[in-house]
Amino acid sequence: EQDAQYVVSLFRSVADFPKEGILFRDFLPALADPQGLSIINQAMLAALPVEADKFDAVAGLEARGFLLGPHIASSLGKGFIALRKSGKLPPTTLSQEYSLEYGTSTIEMEENALSHGDRVLIVDDLIATGGSADAAAQLIQRAGGKVAGFSFVMELEGLHGRELLSEYPTSTLVSMP
Ligand code: IMP
Repeated sequence: EQDAQYVVSLFRSVADFPKEGILFRDFLPALADPQGLSIINQAMLAALPVEADKFDAVAGLEARGFLLGPHIASSLGKGFIALRKSGKLPPTTLSQEYSLEYGTSTIEMEENALSHGDRVLIVDDLIATGGSADAAAQLIQRAGGKVAGFSFVMELEGLHGRELLSEYPTSTLVSMP
């Protein structure tokens, strides 16, 4: 609890970024802090939404999911799969369009990144509407995988992101207004 308070005190909130009316929550200052980084990494492992033997790989969403997923994966002896923004991965890729809290976007993954039936834990910094997480789930399934669950650091209240993911086990470390 003290650790959670310490980490949250390091988060930065920026009004009207990247668009007017958006209160942007930034967890990067907590990663820049040695103790903050360690607390977040340990807490993500302690708060897994499913047991480690219930998934085979970890996938992270570009870009902040890349800062969290590899630590979880390597700590548990699993591999990491990058879900990238469009145009970054060489062919052959699968792509999925989705709407964001602000605008639309497309994510892609390498078509053969998974073996059929692989169970995947999807990781990102924050869930707002859940649109990007839902797109990630669709990509994993189209690639032949199964979604084992979702791990986030932050959940934005009032945007019903969790409802969109209600069929999957989901964990978040902190909930922000
Ligand atoms: P969603 O798709 O609406 O759930 O939005 C979540 C995605 O947008 C994640 O990849 C986040 O990194 C990013 N995002 C949305 N709002 C914020 C914010 O306030 N701070 C940091 N990232 C955000």
